[in-house]
Amino acid sequence: MENGNLKIAVQKKGRLATKTFELLKLCGIDVENNSEKLIVTAKNFNLDILQLRDDDIPEYVQDSVADFGIVGENVLQEKQAECRIVQQLGFGKCQLRIAIPENESLNRIEELEGKRIATSYKYLLKNYLKNKNINAKIIELSGSVEIATSLGIADFICDIVSTGTTLKMNKLKKSFVVFNSQAVLIESKNNDIQNGKLKLKQNLQMRIDSALKAKKSNYLMMNIPAGSLERIVKLIPSLKSPTILSLADKNSLAVHAVIPTETFWDIVDDLKNEGATGILLQPITNIIL
Ligand code: ATP
Ligand code: ZN
Repeated sequence: MENGNLKIAVQKKGRLATKTFELLKLCGIDVENNSEKLIVTAKNFNLDILQLRDDDIPEYVQDSVADFGIVGENVLQEKQAECRIVQQLGFGKCQLRIAIPENESLNRIEELEGKRIATSYKYLLKNYLKNKNINAKIIELSGSVEIATSLGIADFICDIVSTGTTLKMNKLKKSFVVFNSQAVLIESKNNDIQNGKLKLKQNLQMRIDSALKAKKSNYLMMNIPAGSLERIVKLIPSLKSPTILSLADKNSLAVHAVIPTETFWDIVDDLKNEGATGILLQPITNIIL
């Protein structure tokens, strides 16, 4: 369907779907929430959202059926598709790990030598073992990898883990990390794109970038004694120079600044010691620097 709209391939249902649609919303894109349709069109942006199984996303992007895709880096690398990572998106964090039966131990990587390891990530595991100079037998399974050891078809498994609850339920425990993953925005390596679409692509990319930056930042506001201004400005890890506003009370000033969220609790005591009052921290939806 060629209608000039930008196309983005996303997971239809599953662990990445909700966060992906949340991100599009933060970009100001209004999308009908209907996971039964293959394609939904945004109401206020020339964008078609292709709702797919995550395994198919790299290929759709590689073949330029979609201009962008959002997929786990684990799937992208496993499929070895010709795609470029535009940016990491900070959600869908997980690890591809070796896991072993609860009552066994695996201390050194060399102990994998000659073992049977079940996985649906054959390529990533093969690469890992090759780099470590280990010869092991890879048993490729398309799903339910976590039951392979109890069925006796493998000694260990290699699967995606985040909290470890699924492993525990299957009487397995975490061992070596094979690959660290998170959701990524991808594009095709083929740069052959018409001008109109290129503009849309750059626009969406800017919106995503701005939404991600905003997630990591907060808007700090406070009143300070005028005499503390210099010391307080030094304390603020502001992305840009803070805004200083005068107040009716000539001895006080208001200070506003965008700061990295994680720094707030490190500076709040020092701000109070310098006489700051009415300290407010507010979320930000978008930032264009
Ligand atoms: P699909 O039907 O789209 O093929 P799926 O069952 O293959 O779905 P999900 O389980 O929804 O996939 O996981 C999608 C992606 O989410 C994974 O490839 C991985 O990048 C990421 N992820 C994050 N945490 C986890 C986790 N605990 N288990 C599995 N995947 C996770
Ligand atoms: Zn899948």
